[in-house]
This record gives sequence, C-alpha cells and structure tokens, in this order.
Amino acid sequence: MENKMTNLLDGLNDRQKEAVTTTEGPLLVLAGAGSGKTKVLTHRVAYILENRLAAPWEILAITFTNKAANEMCTRIANIVGQMSEDIWIKTFHSACLRILRRDIEKLGYTSNFNIYDTNDQKRLIKDCLRELNLNEDNYPIKSVISKISSAKDEMIDCKEFAKRNDDFRGEKYAMIYARYQQKLKENNAMDFDDLIAKTVELFKDNPDVLEYYQNKFKYIMVDEYQDTNNLQYIFVSMLAEKHRNICVVGDDDQSIYKFRGANIRNILDFEKQFDDAKNIKLEQNYRSTQTILDAANAVIANNFERKEKKLWTNQGEGEKIEVRTCSDQVDEAMYISGEIEKLVSSGKYSYKDIAILYRTNAQTRALEDNLSCPYRVLSGLRFYDTKEIKDILSYLRVIYNPNDDVNLTRIINVPKRGIGDTTVGKIAAFAESMGVSMFDIISDEKYLEALGRSSAKIREFSAIINNLREYIDNIPLVDLMDKVFTETGYADSLMTENTPEARGRIENLQEFKSKALEYEKNVEEPTFGGFLDNISLVSDIDNYDTEQDAIVLMTLHSAKGLEFPVVFMCGLEKGLFPSYQSEGELDKLEEERRLCYVGITRAREKLYITYALQRVMFGKTESKVVSEFVGEIPEKLLNRTDNVVRKQFASYGSARGYSGSDLFGGAGKKSDMDYSAIIAKSTKSGAEMKSSVTYKKGERVMHKKFGEGMIVGITESGGDMMLEILFDNVGTRNLMASFARLKKL
Ligand code: ATP
Ligand code: MG
Repeated sequence: MENKMTNLLDGLNDRQKEAVTTTEGPLLVLAGAGSGKTKVLTHRVAYILENRLAAPWEILAITFTNKAANEMCTRIANIVGQMSEDIWIKTFHSACLRILRRDIEKLGYTSNFNIYDTNDQKRLIKDCLRELNLNEDNYPIKSVISKISSAKDEMIDCKEFAKRNDDFRGEKYAMIYARYQQKLKENNAMDFDDLIAKTVELFKDNPDVLEYYQNKFKYIMVDEYQDTNNLQYIFVSMLAEKHRNICVVGDDDQSIYKFRGANIRNILDFEKQFDDAKNIKLEQNYRSTQTILDAANAVIANNFERKEKKLWTNQGEGEKIEVRTCSDQVDEAMYISGEIEKLVSSGKYSYKDIAILYRTNAQTRALEDNLSCPYRVLSGLRFYDTKEIKDILSYLRVIYNPNDDVNLTRIINVPKRGIGDTTVGKIAAFAESMGVSMFDIISDEKYLEALGRSSAKIREFSAIINNLREYIDNIPLVDLMDKVFTETGYADSLMTENTPEARGRIENLQEFKSKALEYEKNVEEPTFGGFLDNISLVSDIDNYDTEQDAIVLMTLHSAKGLEFPVVFMCGLEKGLFPSYQSEGELDKLEEERRLCYVGITRAREKLYITYALQRVMFGKTESKVVSEFVGEIPEKLLNRTDNVVRKQFASYGSARGYSGSDLFGGAGKKSDMDYSAIIAKSTKSGAEMKSSVTYKKGERVMHKKFGEGMIVGITESGGDMMLEILFDNVGTRNLMASFARLKKL
C-alpha cells in the first residue's frame, strides 16, 4: 500500500501533488490546456481510496462524456484495482438518471420513464403547436426548444415563465412550454434538460433524498467545470453543501458550450461561492511543444474576458506549424491525405496518432471522399439515428413504457399493417379526451369497437406489444430483440423488400444486437431499462475506439479533453471558423476563439492548419478568406505552403518579367511575402476588395505585425492595390491595401 501510494504521487509536479493531496474543503484548479487537470482528478480519486478517506461509493467524479468517464474508470482501476467499480464516475446526465430511477415516483412519474432526444422533442413540439393552432413559421421549433431549454436551465417553470413573458408572443411560448411539459409527463418521458432539472426539483422537494446523497458523497470532483450550465452548477452545489469536499478543475479559456447554457461565470465565481476555497494553479504543460503552446497563447490573448494564465513546457521548441492555402475543399482533403501518408510512411506515426478537426459536420464529406487511409468519423449520422435502429428503439421503448405516445405513434404502422393516419388521429383524440395514454385506448375493447374497420389490426398490434412485455427481464436481451424483430414483422418486411438498402438495414439490426450482447457482458446487473438508458446517453465520442489504427475525424467541440500527436485543423476560413454566426458579435467571436484554442492545444507534436479559397457551403460555391485566427499566430511559428499561390504568382510575376521561381526565391524555398493574405483577398468580390484609403508612394505606414515602413511601390490589382512596403525591421513585404489594416503615420 505504502509503495503504491508513493507511485501515485511520483512524477507529479509540486502543484499537482498539492492538488491531489488537498482532499478536504473546496478546491479550485483553474489551469490551461494540457497541464494535467484530468490527470490530477484521477490521481486524487486514487489517493482518497488509498488513504481510506472514503469508500469507493462515497466518491462522485463528474466528467464531460461517458468516454471520459470510462477512461477515468480504467485509469483508476489500474491504480486501485477492483475498488474502482463502485465509484460514481459519471456524466451529469448519467448521475442524475441513476438518482431519478430510484426516486422519481416522488415527482409523480413512474420509474420506467423514457428519455427523449432532440428528434422526439421536435415531434412533441409539433404536436403542441398543432393542438394550440400555432404556426411553425411564427414559432420555429428550434427556437421553441431553445427557449424551453434556457428556461429549464434558469429553473423557470411554466407558471413563472408565463408571469415573466406576458406579451403576445411570450404568452404563446408560455402555452407551448406548459403543453410540452404536460405531454412529457403524460408520456412518462423526460428530455435531457429534465434529467438534471428534475433531479434538482427532487432534491428541493424531498430534503430526505437530498440528505441521503449529501451524506453519501464525501468527495465530489468535476472535470471541465468551465462548461457546466446553471442547473449542473446547482446540482453539484447542493450535493457538496454538507461535506464541502468539492474539487472542480477547468480552464475558462476552453469554455465552448455557451450555446448550450454553459456559464463561464460558474468557474470564475467558484471562489465567491465557496469563500474558503483553495486555489491551485498548474502552469506546466505536458502535452505540447513550445511552438504549439506559443501559437495557442497568442491566439487566446486576443480575448478580453479571461483570467490571465501562464503556461510553459519543457518539451522543446518542436516543429513549425504547417499552414496550407488550398484552392478548394477537395484540394484541402487531398493535401491532408498526402501529408498523412508521408507522416505514416516516415515510420514516426501510425494512423491512430492523427486527428482531423473541423468546425462543422458538413466538412466531413469532402474529407471522406478523398482520404486514402483508414479513418473513423465521430459525427454525421449516428448509428442510433438510422431509421431501422430508431424504429426498433421505438418498439423497445414502447415495450418498456407503453404510455409513451410519441414512440407508439412512430411504430404503430411500421411495418405497414394498415393502420392509417386517420385511425391514429382518432386514437390520439380518444386518449386526449379520456386523459389516458394511446396504449390504454388500444388495449381496451370498448374503445376498439368505436374504431370501426381498423379495430382488428389494432387489436393485433396491442397484442404484439403486450406479448413482448411479458419477456422483459425474463429472457436475455438479445433474445428479446430477436423477438421484436420477428414478432413485429419488421424483419420479414425487410427480407421481402430484399434490396441492397434493406440488406444494409438487416446488417445494422444485427449490429444492434451485438451492442446488446456487449452491454450484457460488461454490466454487472444488466437490465432492459439499463440498456435503454445506456443507449439514450451514448454520444458520438463514446464510440471512439482508441485502439483501432485509423485516423479520427471529429468536430472541434468533440475533441475537448483529448490529445493527439498530430492534429490537422481544417477550414480556417472567415464565416466557417469563426462561424458566420459570430460576425459582429464579440461574445460569440470570443467563444469561437476559445474553440480555436481548444483545437490548437489538442496537438502534441505537429499541427497543420488548412484553409481553402473556395468552398461549397449551403449548396453553393463561395469564395473564402483566411480566418483571422491564423493571422493571430506569430508568423515565426508558421511554415506556409501553398501551390495555389505559386500558380497565381507565377503568372503575376511573368507579366512583369519574373519567373515564378524567382519570386519565390527558387523552387521549394519559401518567400517572405504575406502571400496567403494576398491570394485570400484576391478571391473576394470586387465590391469588397476596394480599399477606401488612397496610398501614395513614399508614405509612411504602420502594420500590426511588421511595424513601421514606407510604401515603395503600388500596383493596381483587380480593384484593389498591392502595396510594396519597405519595413524598417523586416524588409520588403507585398500587401493588399484593403487587407493589411495599415495605419498612416
Ligand atoms: P485539457 O485542458 O486539454 O483537458 P488537462 O489539463 O486535463 O488538459 P491532462 O489531459 O490531464 O491535461 O494531461 C495532458 C497530458 O500531460 C497527458 O498526456 C498527461 O498524461 C500528461 N501529464 C500530465 N501531468 C504529467 C506529469 N506530471 N508528468 C508527465 N506527464 C504528465
Ligand atoms: Mg482534461
């Protein structure tokens, strides 16, 4: 025991040791990327167990994804062995779900409630709008969902919402919100926000339940604290109130979920709330080279609202950051593909060391089409989002909780069994007027008769469901799924169809079965409900298998907390990254910049940044300009390459009697010219390109990066001016007038 413990602290720096061993009282570890925050949390849990400060089940560690939870579990298991199994290492949602399954009856739900994802939510809101005679154009579903979600985050219930929003539209939103909540309850279902909101409500209304958990969790730890929203913050605060042994770690510069309600103030205000909180700063970065770190620091320094942090590394300077200008998204993908092959054939890296990160899922398409190496995409259509899996899941959910009208409506006529929309509408109307669920109606003979001709088919359907319900937790999950496939006629209908697509669907269903098998193997007490919960909580990133030798493609958001020897950040273009939605809004631009900081700091050894001059976006080809974030990285850290520019400059040069290679100082050698700026600008439309300022030869100007200099040449170029400037310190540069942001002196 003694030995292991010394091991536990071995290799940690003094600050990290302090954070691991400061177990009592509130503790805040606010530190930059790669400084070992997650490592500290893991070691801290192990330290508490080793010192017998608490039993495993008295520790609650909250991580941001299930994957992170599993990883932490494995790491702790490596240190403390089997004991790790009883620790609550969970995400906010999975912790709350576990609490709710136990006590939700106190809030008038039954414990077999279903969890609704965004698609289910949309369907439910649509129903609400229809019933309230409101038009989707005036009350867009997305905006309704976001309003309800913010209200829940602020713990504003329907009544309070109505009070606060008493204008015409506000009143309507209040009605939708109220109807939506009522429907969720009738369906015995919760959305994701409810999982946390209802837990907090449960704690508030039932002090005994709260006390039970307050006593239980002697030590509470939260990773990625900067991304907690208000409700999550209240949830942990309530739990920590008794023992006050709460340790939160995070980095305000990595807060990237404001659009989901993450409140950066939570981390900045932690010290106010827990006024005796100890504050430990970690300043050594163990992940990245100095070059990568310098780039990250330079970018994030442009944000106003932040706590200044120092970060250093002794990993050495490392290689320069490759910045590549590409002609379009295909060229970009081919370049990345080519570089990956070089990296791997050098023998230094394998595919799994490499990640491609992007701002939006839409960017995966061109990459997928042009990559010639094994890859995995953690985005796009998730496995659980395909039609067949959704259908079967709906069946499983109805079997689990027959009061779930949303899922029942989805599958009552899938496969087609002659129950038309009119009949379904009638059933819904009956249910509505009787105040019961649709399943109650179709299981009751006296209503069935009223449904006329369709009644025989409906009777058959409800018999299938009732029959399948008998098997819950009585036969292995996989067998239950087989029964669902066959007895509902689903498998038959695919088999009859016998198209390649249908065969693909059958394969997916087989895959679904293997997932059930896997669940049964991995979980100590597998249950049908547990399996459904497991599926509800799974996210893209959870499916990321680090063992497989394939490069990984994911959004910058999903990459949080991860690290890779080599990172490609692509699509660094204005309007894409930073997103066009942040245009003219400082808050949003700063969030985009934090996302850029997250991206850069995922790289350990090599970072590539790419951007394209043209990209197909929203179905049309757009000219693009390099992202301002690239310009924020000191030029000396970059190695710019660009065959597009060479071509264009070659023709520009030859018109003046130069050869392309003269301009670039010979083949392969890089020019000092800020040519990415020039070419980026030259693709803009004429109207945008015009510089409103007039320059003259001999004038002195100031450039943000190059300092003071004198204009020595001016060339008209496509409505803009190319200025040749002799800078006092860095020599001659050619800059486009409208792009260079020069100040006349
Ligand atoms: P992020 O902000 O990105 O979440 P983090 O602060 O959580 O980063 P970790 O992921 O815990 O940082 O650590 C970054 C890397 O540095 C990991 O590979 C980790 O194993 C390594 N590391 C952390 N501390 C040490 C140390 N004292 N000695 C050696 N390696 C360390
Ligand atoms: Mg971390």
